[in-house]
Amino acid sequence: MWDDVAVLSAVGAGLLACIIALIFAMRVPAPGKPKRFCPLCKSELDEKETLKGLIVDTKPPQKILIRGCSKCAPPEEGGSW
Ligand SMILES: [Zn+2]
Repeated sequence: MWDDVAVLSAVGAGLLACIIALIFAMRVPAPGKPKRFCPLCKSELDEKETLKGLIVDTKPPQKILIRGCSKCAPPEEGGSW
């Protein structure tokens, strides 16, 4: 008899976990693009925000010197990618 109780509570716990997961999934907004962060100042970037950088080597392997995001890049930096 106790075995039945154990199985029932295990099923119940599994069901409960499913319901909780469903509620949690509905509350969290649909996952879009992963968050992006500036590698220099670590601030979060907007979806369309670009980093500023200089291409220092045009031959493969190309090298890019990252100057920062719109918040931390030097204002005289004009490049964008
Ligand atoms: Zn930055």
